Amino acid sequence: MLMPPFTLHNPTTVEEACSLAGVLLGKGEEFDWVAGGTDLLPNYKWHLNPKPHVISLARIEGVDTLSLHEIGCMARLADLTVENGIHPLIVEAASKVASSLVRRNATLGGNLCLDTRCFWYNQGELWRRSIDWCHKADCGTGADCRVIPNQNTLCVATYQGDIAPTLMVLGAEVHLIGPNGLRTLPLAEFYQLDGMTKNILKKGEFLLKVTLSKEGAARMGSYQKLRVRDSWDFPEAGVAASWIPGDVNSLQIATTALESIPRCHPEEVAAVLEEGWDGMVSVKALAAAVRKSVQPVNNTSLPPRYRKSMVRVLTKRAVQKMLE
Ligand SMILES: Cc1cc2nc3c(=O)[nH]c(=O)nc-3n(C[C@H](O)[C@H](O)[C@H](O)COP(=O)(O)OP(=O)(O)OC[C@H]3O[C@@H](n4cnc5c(N)ncnc54)[C@H](O)[C@@H]3O)c2cc1C
Ligand code: SF4
Repeated sequence: MLMPPFTLHNPTTVEEACSLAGVLLGKGEEFDWVAGGTDLLPNYKWHLNPKPHVISLARIEGVDTLSLHEIGCMARLADLTVENGIHPLIVEAASKVASSLVRRNATLGGNLCLDTRCFWYNQGELWRRSIDWCHKADCGTGADCRVIPNQNTLCVATYQGDIAPTLMVLGAEVHLIGPNGLRTLPLAEFYQLDGMTKNILKKGEFLLKVTLSKEGAARMGSYQKLRVRDSWDFPEAGVAASWIPGDVNSLQIATTALESIPRCHPEEVAAVLEEGWDGMVSVKALAAAVRKSVQPVNNTSLPPRYRKSMVRVLTKRAVQKMLE
């Protein structure tokens, strides 16, 4: 399909990017950020909500930092697959993303800000026109959501990124910057339960970097992923677990690819820990509780019942591997 026309801006500093964003917003002009383009550009080719302006982060200096405690938004996923000081859990998750070709272009910022996906949405324009569109890209028709009809307030498209849950269980923080300055918050508070707004980025803001505290960096964990083809497919379900070795009370679990947002499961963990840790009995109880708490819908490749039931298996595997 033909790429729709847009004006590409190439700032070289963070300040220039923020001021460009401020100017466009001031003029009422819409824009998207682009990093590696592996998600945005295919979506543009399918005419999925393209904007008249695109601001590239690719030429900005100093935003591709890579260390145990800090990863810049433009760090390539391929570089996160190598254990050169990066936390092993991030290496494990990054190695399971897409294919080596995609990982060479894909960035951490793009992966965390990935658009949500849905069978009815990630299709060419002619296909979507033939079904009279859907709420997320309704082309001004007011079309209904095809997954949960008769509501049109919520899009339940699925977030299918692999790295977010691992960073969540490591307690990572995100640093967001825009025309109104910098703010920092836990990644666990970054996502917003709606397949269209996706996260709490304000207009003009972009994700600058992710940081890990000393406590986060000391954690160990495991990430387990369900996908159709191991060679490159998006996760159909993903579970990350981490702990501070020897301290079972520090256990954290997060899931992805099951709802519109990746999320932590502190209540389920707390309920099991309250009973007193009892090895495999507790692992099984935790796996059952996490399975019960997730609500996948019918908009990805595999049926929601199967994805939900696999959450029990993935949680058990992740916790067992972590405790090994
Ligand atoms: C064939 C294929 C298979 C894939 N399989 C997987 C998989 O198994 N697991 C997985 O996790 N992902 C998968 N992906 C998605 C891929 O990982 C993402 O496309 C990639 O990580 C996005 O990074 P990017 O730099 O290319 O983002 P872009 O395409 O440049 O941007 C993605 C989105 O994020 C926004 N954005 C980018 N950077 C920032 C920033 N710093 N701040 C704010 N917003 C930003 C853009 O506006 C856009 O909406 C797959 C993609 C393809 C094409
Ligand atoms: S969940 Fe509904 S509104 Fe969202 S992309 Fe799918 S069909 Fe469209």
